[in-house]
Amino acid sequence: MAQETSRDVGPVVLLGPPGAGKGTQAKRIMERYKIPQVSTGDILRYNVAQGTELGVAAKAVMARGELVSDDLVCEMVRLRLKQPDCKRGYILDGFPRTAAQAEWLDALLENELFDNPRPTRAWPIVIRLEVDYNQLLLRITGRRSCPTCGRIYNVHFQPPQVDEICDVNGTKLVTRNDDRLEVIQPRLAAYQEQTTPVAEYYQRTGRLISINGDRPMDEVTQQIFRILEDHHA
Ligand code: AMP
Repeated sequence: MAQETSRDVGPVVLLGPPGAGKGTQAKRIMERYKIPQVSTGDILRYNVAQGTELGVAAKAVMARGELVSDDLVCEMVRLRLKQPDCKRGYILDGFPRTAAQAEWLDALLENELFDNPRPTRAWPIVIRLEVDYNQLLLRITGRRSCPTCGRIYNVHFQPPQVDEICDVNGTKLVTRNDDRLEVIQPRLAAYQEQTTPVAEYYQRTGRLISINGDRPMDEVTQQIFRILEDHHA
């Protein structure tokens, strides 16, 4: 893949439904620009596991699959973004989840981090990966993994040589529980309902960049790199 670079990237927000390839693209951005991924879900899970005050407050809400209050999540994000590893930029993952969080982030970047001379106070670059709904269903429901070596296949796009069997070690492949059709449809509907207001907020403020996530993965990556580099050229 492309070589890493130490340019300042600023805040990056990746929007896209489960299966759109956000995880893969985020990993490539991290590797190339050496900036951290800030995942609110991960930080919350860590707090729950450690039994911190935040973790105790968030635990039941998360178990119900509901959103943790904006106050708690925003304070948590504020503390994380002040860490030195975020100075050149960061990829927000799972945040903002509501329009209020998106507005809060803009205010934070404009006000609180204002004395920071690095361009982390630049507006976030918001990239939405758009994937055709049927394509998304095929990507997710076709996903299989080897319980022994972790290798991922797709029965439609990247099938193993022998049906449902790992090429590497002959183990029978498995489907993740939340990749089943009856689970994925409500997951996609919930995603749509939750993130539409966030996308609309960035659209309104003229900052939403949509790209075609149906294109091959490497092509999407190159397009994202170009957007990030043009933005700070
Ligand atoms: P995730 O791993 O991103 O799916 O997040 C797991 C859970 O953490 C979510 O179901 C929410 O309960 C909570 N959570 C993560 N990010 C946020 C956020 N930005 N706002 C509110 N709750 C969040």
